[in-house]
Amino acid sequence: MEDLDRVREARGAADDILRTLDAFGLHWDEPVLYQSRRSAVYQDALLTLRARDLTYACGCSRREIAAAGRAGAEGPIYPGTCRDGLPPGRAPRSERLRIDSARISIDDRIQGRFTQDIAADVGDFVLRRADGLHAYQLAVVVDDAEQHIDQIVRGADLLASAPRQRLLQRLLGLPEPAYAHLPLALDTDGRKLSKSLASRPVDRSDPLPALLAAWQFLGQQPPSELPLTIAEFWAWAVPAWSTEHIPRYRQPPGTTVTAPPPAIES
Ligand SMILES: [Zn+2]
Repeated sequence: MEDLDRVREARGAADDILRTLDAFGLHWDEPVLYQSRRSAVYQDALLTLRARDLTYACGCSRREIAAAGRAGAEGPIYPGTCRDGLPPGRAPRSERLRIDSARISIDDRIQGRFTQDIAADVGDFVLRRADGLHAYQLAVVVDDAEQHIDQIVRGADLLASAPRQRLLQRLLGLPEPAYAHLPLALDTDGRKLSKSLASRPVDRSDPLPALLAAWQFLGQQPPSELPLTIAEFWAWAVPAWSTEHIPRYRQPPGTTVTAPPPAIES
């Protein structure tokens, strides 16, 4: 459960997600890990990197980086101000990964090969934020390894962060999971459906229509007979599933991760 940012998290959101997954017949077979309770584990990983001089303290504010950094794949690229030590009079705020060169390719099961030069396109990224929280990139890598996750399926808006995660897996000596990034469902303005845009949630009391819509959106053959229950749906859907039919989404060169991806016709 990616609830690192407890301040921004809506009350009850985590339970709501679990109830929805359950209603849709998507069950989990081990206890749920909550990132908000695991900061000691993330700190261990950070210390491992720090001991090898792979991290450094940064005293820059977001505004300073925005003013000095050129535009990158995910906001301004850190200009390296504190790389060789904090400038005089500066207090440490965040902690960054020192990246000298890191060109990393991900062979995504759906999107194909995705290559990123992390040093040039992203820069020295944050592992521990100014508010003391560990960064998402570090937390997910540690969690995936601990839970023996070997296949990661998620939205294509996270494709651009996969090379950073691969880099951290290698630096920490962790296994390297396979990735499959799915196309995103967008609204009519090409924006990702989300709570911040007031998109309507899926209906927990009537999951079948949403499941069938998602099924078709992912390029799968519709059933010859409509399933009547969730159990019937999954009994038919699991063997009928074909990864080869999922439409691809490729991030056009030069676009940012936050920009909406192109709509995918169903
Ligand atoms: Zn700095």
